[in-house]
Amino acid sequence: MPENAKKISFAKCGEDSTCGTSREREAAYSGSKKEMTCVVCPTGCVLTITLNADKSVKSVTGNACGRGVIYAENECVRPMRTLTTTAALANGRMLPVRTDRAVPRDTLIDCMREINRKIVAPTAKIYDIIIENVADTGANVVAAANGSDCA
Ligand code: SF4
Repeated sequence: MPENAKKISFAKCGEDSTCGTSREREAAYSGSKKEMTCVVCPTGCVLTITLNADKSVKSVTGNACGRGVIYAENECVRPMRTLTTTAALANGRMLPVRTDRAVPRDTLIDCMREINRKIVAPTAKIYDIIIENVADTGANVVAAANGSDCA
């Protein structure tokens, strides 16, 4: 490294509470408090959640509306995510797909296993159901594009 080169150091994700890579960053609180950004609407309220000993939600502050409380409770009990990924088309191309509703975050790997096994007809149209009830979540995997448009 040249003598006058500036040394840049990067904090590991999670060391810095302002880390933008994790919406669920936990602030430097004790185990009874959490901080997370509500992503239900673009306002992005920063929620401070106080937990009971059993990790259930005791109180939520920082929310501008009641949806923030529901979001915080879901995130603490069983976080949900809409899965977006690609599935293989029979012609070797990849089709963008997504779940038609949020699925429990702890089922994402099972969902991906099913999607990775699936070979989709290139005639698939946007919103076609590619997999019904993926990983027993109740959600369907749907095409997010027309197969004929996939490069
Ligand atoms: S708490 Fe309400 S206003 Fe704030 S980000 Fe969530 S949904 Fe939007």
